[in-house]
Amino acid sequence: MLVNHTIREFQDLMNILYGDRDRKRGTDRSLIHLQTEIGELLEAYLKGDLDSSREEVADVFAWLCSVCNLLNIDLETVAYQKYPHRCPKCDANPCECHPL
Ligand SMILES: [Zn+2]
Repeated sequence: MLVNHTIREFQDLMNILYGDRDRKRGTDRSLIHLQTEIGELLEAYLKGDLDSSREEVADVFAWLCSVCNLLNIDLETVAYQKYPHRCPKCDANPCECHPL
């Protein structure tokens, strides 16, 4: 079932699926879970395991959405507010900031 959905729809889905559990766990512990998933993504990447990396990316995004639900943050809105189709630092698309 590959259908185009918005970030907001996915965040709402996480709220329907896990909202009660997330609220019981609380924001602090949910942030720790998010951090753990980021570590698992790094581990999968360093192993060169692309299948696991795909799964971990999905987990990271799901946990980020859960944290946003707990903080009453609309991820889609804040993401596009900060990155409105151009770099927030140099105002260009693509970014023209100096390389790292
Ligand atoms: Zn830039």
